[in-house]
This record gives sequence, C-alpha cells and structure tokens, in this order.
Amino acid sequence: MKNTNEKQTNETKKPVNFVQSIIDEDLKTGKRTEVHTRFPPEPNGYLHIGHAKSICLNFGLAQQYNGICNLRFDDTNPTKEDVEYVESIKEDVHWLGFDWKDRMFYASDYFEKLYQYALQLIKSGNAYVCELSGDEIKEYRGTPTRPGKESPYRNRSVEESLSLFEQMREGKFEEGTHSLRAKIDMASPNMHMRDPIVYRIKKQNHHRTGDKWCIYPMYDFAHGISDAIEGITHSICTLEFEVHRPLYDWFLIALNIDSRPQQIEFARLNLSYTVMSKRKLMELVDENLVDGWDDPRMPTVSGLRRRGYTAASIRNFANTIGVAKRDNVIDVALLEHSVREDLNKVSNRVMSVLNPLKVIIDNYPENLDEEIDAINNPEDASKGSRKVPFSKELYIERDDFMEEAPKKFFRLAPGREVRLRYAYYITCVEVVKDENTGDVIELHCTYDPETKGGSSPDGRKVKGTLHWVSAKHALDAEVRLYDRLFVDEDPLGKKGVDFKKFLNKDSLTILNNCKVEPGLKNAANGSLLQFERLGYFCIDKDSKPDKLLFNRTVALRDSWSKMNKK
Ligand code: ATP
Ligand code: MG
Repeated sequence: MKNTNEKQTNETKKPVNFVQSIIDEDLKTGKRTEVHTRFPPEPNGYLHIGHAKSICLNFGLAQQYNGICNLRFDDTNPTKEDVEYVESIKEDVHWLGFDWKDRMFYASDYFEKLYQYALQLIKSGNAYVCELSGDEIKEYRGTPTRPGKESPYRNRSVEESLSLFEQMREGKFEEGTHSLRAKIDMASPNMHMRDPIVYRIKKQNHHRTGDKWCIYPMYDFAHGISDAIEGITHSICTLEFEVHRPLYDWFLIALNIDSRPQQIEFARLNLSYTVMSKRKLMELVDENLVDGWDDPRMPTVSGLRRRGYTAASIRNFANTIGVAKRDNVIDVALLEHSVREDLNKVSNRVMSVLNPLKVIIDNYPENLDEEIDAINNPEDASKGSRKVPFSKELYIERDDFMEEAPKKFFRLAPGREVRLRYAYYITCVEVVKDENTGDVIELHCTYDPETKGGSSPDGRKVKGTLHWVSAKHALDAEVRLYDRLFVDEDPLGKKGVDFKKFLNKDSLTILNNCKVEPGLKNAANGSLLQFERLGYFCIDKDSKPDKLLFNRTVALRDSWSKMNKK
C-alpha cells in the first residue's frame, strides 16, 4: 500500500533539480529576492547541443521564477572571435524559443571598467606587472604536487607596476613580454590561484572595439566581474569551472564589489557518437570533413535545425535529461526519440519513393488520372486531407518487391496481392528484366477497381501496404540520408588517437533518383514531413522548385528495427 502511494506522488510531483533547490532555498532565506541568470557564450564558434542545454536551463529558470536572463558574449579573446559567430548564436537562441529582450551584453562593453578594476588591484597591492615569458610563467607555476616559485617581479613597487601597465596599454611592449598578474599564492593547492594572469598583450583587432586596445583581460578576470556588473544572482556553469570559483570570489573581494553572483556548477552534456567541443567541431569544418557548421550531421544547433529537428524537441530533450552534478554520457538515441515524438505530432505525411521501381497496371485505363484522398496526419484530424494523383504507371520502392519471396515477405512478389496506400489492391502478374544484367526493370500488375480507397468489399485481406507515386506526376528529388558522424561511441576517449579517425565514412548517402508527390512542388524550405514508411524528412534550405532537396531527420523506429533484424 505504502509503495503505491509513494509511486503516485513521485509520478505526479514535478521533479525539482538541485539547481532549483538552491534557488528555492535562496529565495526562502531572503538571500535573494529575484532570479537573474545569463547565458555567456564565447563567440568563437557555433553553438552545439550542449550549449542548448545551458540555454534551456538559464532561460528556463528565469521563466520559472519570473526572473530575467541575459545573453552575454564573453568576447575577451580577439584572436578567435568573430561577428559571424555572434550572429549565429543570436539566431540559435531565438530559434530555440528564448528571448533576451533588451539584455544583450558583451564583456567587451566592460573593457574600460575592467581596466579600471585592474588599476585598483595594482594600487591595493593585489596585482603586479610581470616580465617573465610565457614559458617561464609555466615553469614557475609548479605542479599540483609541487608548489610554484614566486616571480622576481612580484614585489616591485605599486608605482612601477602602474607605470608599466600604462605602457602596456599604450602598446610600448611586444606580445609575451609583459603581463599583469594577481598576487595571490604561489603555493596554493589550486593552480588557478597561483598568481594568475589578469591582462595580456595582444596586438589584435577586436570584432567590436577595433584597435582601441592592445591589452585584453583574461577570461577568468572578465567573466566573474561581468556577472557581478550585470547583477547576476545565479551564475550557472559547467563543472570544469568549479576550480575557478575561488578565483572569481577572490577578485570580487579584492575589488570590494558588493554584487556576489552565486556560481552553481552542473555536469556538461556529453552525447554518444559525437564530439561536443567548438574547437573539435571547428577542425571538422576547417578541414572540409563536413559541409560547414550547419552540416546536418553536426551536433550544432544550426546543424540539427537543418536536419529537421524542432526547437520543441530539443527543449524536451534538455528537460528530460535534467541537470546532474556528475559527468555522464547521454545516448544519442534519446535525442532521436525526442525528435520522433515531436515530428509524429507536427509533420504531415506524404508519399515518396527513394529507390523507384516502375509498376504498370495493365487493366487500368490508358488516359485516366484519378485523385486519391490521403490523410495528412492521422495524429491530428485538423490537418485534413489532400488529393494525390493516381494513374496507370506508378513507382513503388524497389525493396518492396522480391522475385523469390520468402513466406514472411508481405510485400509485392509474383502472384501476390498488396494494397497501395489509400488507392487499390494490386497483384503482380509479370516481371520484366534487363536481358543482359538480369535486373528487374518493371513490373506488370492488375488492379481490382472494387478496392478503391484501399479496402475490399468482399472482406478480402492483404497483409502488405505499400507507398507509391504516380510516375507521370511525380517530381524528381535528391534525398540525403544521414547516419552517425562517428563510428565510435566516444571518439575523444581514445588516448593518442585522433578523433577524426573515427569519422563514419558512410555518414552521408545521397540518393538522386527519388520521386515525390507533386504537391511538394511549392512547399517551403524547412518544411517537416513524414515520408510514409521511410522516416521524417525536411526540405533543405538549398532546395529549389526545379531541384528538390530533402534531408532525412531520423528514420521511423519501425524501419530501424526492421533493418536491424534483417
Ligand atoms: P566548448 O568547449 O564547446 O568550446 P565552451 O564551454 O568553451 O564550450 P562557451 O561559449 O564558453 O563554450 O560556453 C557557454 C556556456 O555554455 C557556458 O556556460 C558553458 O558552461 C555552457 N556549455 C558549454 N558546453 C556545454 C555542454 N556540453 N553542456 C552544457 N553546457 C555547456
Ligand atoms: Mg570556452
């Protein structure tokens, strides 16, 4: 009895994740009176599904608690950043269904403020200009088990550091010769606290500030302070930032900044059979191993969108996996499940033949064209029905015919009868083959005019139902089938082996002799469809009325399990 009750409460209660628990507690104790989060991408690549999880979390929490969420670009590294990335990130966040309203910020907006904070650190004896080279700094830093060594410049006077820092800003020194470092503790067990660099010289144009600066703040200095400047209450980030937290706090204390965002770390999303790092994804793009950031095989938000994923399916996926404190790997099949669920509800059904085999119906009138009623979405009556043309010559899927068919093969074979979806029963009466190759070229069938609509008045049953298109009405199309981008579940997990070795050579199959229903002629690019019996497809962004292009989003579960059984 007790067990049943417990089960019911667990199922009906909306689960609260650990981030919500922290926020609930903060609101209860009065530590916070509002929730203000942010999504802080570095504009150095396109967003991937891991970022989508972070977006759903940050914007989602703001929605749940009636709070607000900023979009902030942490653009502190001019070498790798670009406006192209800024624009793509904005597009992706909007597409996922979230809005930052008038709260889009850039860490670079705070460069002057951050510079002033740096001066303040020097004046209070908390930072110094160091003249060790990059390699020397590394050498002096020590190891996690061996304490570091203090820089010989560590105890130079405040005045000297101030003057040198000013000269750094004026461009008087070459890159790598001087840096500003926080004076913390060279023996700290936390390596990030061993006099970390605060500012470095980079004689680089910045995509927003142009040539105004030749020194740039380090991410660790800019990130925490930017959160504080914006009044962020809960700075949600991935686990690898846990060890940076003491440094973020140290800066705020040293600078007497009152605003104290609370950092909460969660486990980043890892997905099987793919890689989740902008840097790695960029390698694939730069080496032309994929067709750009939005290649439908990429785990990027733009790739998933081009593949036909819906924003709702990604949000549902993010909700389903939730947030955890420990690293784990999510099976990509769960993401696929999530998009199938949504597409089943929202996509219209159409008939398309990927691998056409001609069927001629011998007893069908030569010049007759019929309009057959077909249901658009059996899951949604409001989507209505459409007319599909039927005529004497049709195409069916080559796989749906077997000359020597085993008993369990319920599709077409010599002498066997099947149903053409929404149309008629047909029986195969003759197989025509190429004399030289022996390949089947076309089939001759007869139809039963009494079975219009797909059922027989005499109650005669057939086991197989095939999709088809009318040969003279069908449109030509190119269809791209996608498989996993990598053949290994964990391409980054093999020590000393380049992850690109695990690329799946068969991840893209292009079929360019496909036939689709004529009604698709003017369907908008991006339209989501189910090709009956074949899977979910979308019309590619590059599709044109005279060269239709489709991407398969995901196979139907049935065909997947069928394929695996074969
Ligand atoms: P990458 O390693 O792919 O370049 P990143 O962490 O450097 O990712 P940022 O632009 O700095 O990318 O990330 C913006 C936000 O997205 C950060 O708050 C980060 O914690 C979060 N994020 C990045 N990757 C993931 C992931 N796989 N799962 C969940 N959140 C992520
Ligand atoms: Mg990063």
